[in-house]
Amino acid sequence: MTNKEAFGLAKKYIPGGVDSPVRAFGSVGGEPFVVDHGEGAYLVDIEGNRYLDFIQSWGPLIFGHCDPDIENAVIATAKRGLSFGAPSNLETKLAKLICDEFKNVEKVRFVSSGTEATMSAIRVARGFSGKDGLIKFEGCYHGHSDALLVKAGSGATTYGNASSGGVPADVVKNTYLARYNDIESVRAIFEANSGKIGALIIEPIAGNMGLVPADNEFLSELRRLCDKNGAVLIFDEVISGFRVSLGGAQKVFGIIPDLTVLGKIIGGGYPVGGFGGKKEIMNLISPVGNVYHAGTLSGNPISVAAGIETISILKENPEIYENVNKKTENLVNKINELIKKYDVPASVNHFGSLFTIFFSKEKVKTLEDAINTNDEFYSTYFDTMLENGVIVPPSKYEAHFVSYIHNDEDVEKLLKGVEKTFQKIA
Ligand code: PMP
Repeated sequence: MTNKEAFGLAKKYIPGGVDSPVRAFGSVGGEPFVVDHGEGAYLVDIEGNRYLDFIQSWGPLIFGHCDPDIENAVIATAKRGLSFGAPSNLETKLAKLICDEFKNVEKVRFVSSGTEATMSAIRVARGFSGKDGLIKFEGCYHGHSDALLVKAGSGATTYGNASSGGVPADVVKNTYLARYNDIESVRAIFEANSGKIGALIIEPIAGNMGLVPADNEFLSELRRLCDKNGAVLIFDEVISGFRVSLGGAQKVFGIIPDLTVLGKIIGGGYPVGGFGGKKEIMNLISPVGNVYHAGTLSGNPISVAAGIETISILKENPEIYENVNKKTENLVNKINELIKKYDVPASVNHFGSLFTIFFSKEKVKTLEDAINTNDEFYSTYFDTMLENGVIVPPSKYEAHFVSYIHNDEDVEKLLKGVEKTFQKIA
């Protein structure tokens, strides 16, 4: 079967042929290849074509596809049962590994996706503060739960909806939108809604409007405003947790939220999410407190075992972060040299092992900046990379992920594709 035939069949039985919209290549044009398997730094499609992968399942695969240690941990665990619906020691072990690294996290609750984790964290935050108002930022994506689908990033931006169909106006009426990296927009909401705001959620390194890190002063002012107004500060570190450092972005910035949301790496590529905070907040969750949260497959042994193995390797080998961060920095420096050489309207944002090439001379700091970058040039970039056997995010609103498995040759291959793109654009 060819990619075209397989995707045609997928479209017959699955809306758009995909289970998550960005996979459909809607914003760059063309049709996706259909994956047969992964192999280290590569994806292989059903026609046998190999693609150097700078998506890495959108972040979880910090060691690349089919890492043998994670594979072994999963196989050994699977042989002992796939799901118990009862407590297991694996959950406690993963929770402890997380609590040891995140300063304000004394207890963690596991779920099966980032969407569930943010949704549940917000419920607990509202339960704790006793106030319904929630501040979120334009361009930040926190999964697809109703209250958070307001100017969300990622696929929700590509598909042009300020909010999604099917979301009742009543559900989003307590969601207040602020501008990323614009503290005055946050201050104005707190002032206009005194006594109403119970929680504020942010990606400290936004990865869903392309990569846009927050300014340190901006985050520290958010911390101050939340304290002053009795609002729970939630960092959504689904992407950045264990990716930019063992203690996530909060450790790098030195700014500690009340609740931390995690996903991706803590499941090593398996479905997972988690949220945690101090016990005063977390003990509100049922069965201890009255904030309800549950899940048939929450804390699933396979996901948890893959997460334990991933985090244990990261903890035992701190040089891994140095390796991926340095590799990314060098790569970004070389892209910047090429931008100068060909004088193309582009700039790069990067943080840790994440980066995005934006086709605009201006530095991107907000969703508006990201929207104003050139779509056509991004499509040219995507197509050129694919022609050269490299798969990069099929949307300008996503980040590239560099993993430990990427070697010098892989980096060179990426840079060759970037240079060819710039030659076309220049
Ligand atoms: N938060 C952030 C920051 C994310 O990037 C994502 C997904 N990429 C989510 C939450 C939702 O996670 P999931 O797709 O696992 O539901």
